[in-house]
Amino acid sequence: MNKPKRLLRVVESQSAYWVGDGFPVRNLFPSNPLGADISPFLMLDYAGPHEFAPSDKARGGGEHPHRGFETVSIAYQGSVGHRDSAGNAGVIRPGDVQWMTAASGVVHEELHEADFVKRGGVLEMIQLWVNLPRSHKMSAPRYQSLTSANIPNAKLDEQGSEIRIIAGNWNDHPGGAQTVTPIELYDLRLKKGAHFDLKIPAAMNTALFLLKGAISIEGKSIEGEAKLALFSMTGESIMIGAQADSTILVLAGEPIDEPVAQMGPFVMNSRPELLQAVEDYRSGKMGHLTPTPR
Ligand code: MN
Repeated sequence: MNKPKRLLRVVESQSAYWVGDGFPVRNLFPSNPLGADISPFLMLDYAGPHEFAPSDKARGGGEHPHRGFETVSIAYQGSVGHRDSAGNAGVIRPGDVQWMTAASGVVHEELHEADFVKRGGVLEMIQLWVNLPRSHKMSAPRYQSLTSANIPNAKLDEQGSEIRIIAGNWNDHPGGAQTVTPIELYDLRLKKGAHFDLKIPAAMNTALFLLKGAISIEGKSIEGEAKLALFSMTGESIMIGAQADSTILVLAGEPIDEPVAQMGPFVMNSRPELLQAVEDYRSGKMGHLTPTPR
């Protein structure tokens, strides 16, 4: 029998802000300084749900760089387009996930997608930052564009509870994304009344992010919106009861036991590496976006 993980704490966002003019986010960490307890994850921003009026101006985040880690964008409602200095472009639609390994450097923009801008509507997304180990921080960038259709899923009961395996391996269902270090990332939807025994591989830091709903764990109720439950690394299972239809992002991973040095969009191991990243961006070594007519 699997040993249960212990619920350590439940936190709410400690910081809300706009990313560019398109993403009103609540930050779960590092505004809660979870540090090594949530490694290899560096940041979780929950954007929306927020209703945007129809417009003719694409809102979002303009040109900016990243180096040394990965950005994982998960769309729940609304669509976001992106393009980068290497000529990659695409759209992240509801149910899709973009796993971008910035590694040695990406310069990109993330803007509301054209049809969504025209129609308006509700935007709801998560952006998760995943650290890379020293050995991969300067690798070539990589994109994994997972459409809803190529994210494996499994039914959990007859009421409609479901798990989508974004990365990792759940019950012999391999996830849609390849990861550099061992990571499990699941989109879990539990229907009211469901009881689910979630298995997590040993030695992984683990958190559940409740987007909305009501769940109980170890007799403790977690309900409402945007609550993050942090668990002990030891143990391999979490028994979740759902008191209401609930949407949960399960994040688990083996910690990366290295120094973390961060300056804005760069995450390296040391300050000299950060200064090099700033210099490489300024001197154009990460490239620039080609202007588009608007
Ligand atoms: Mn970005």
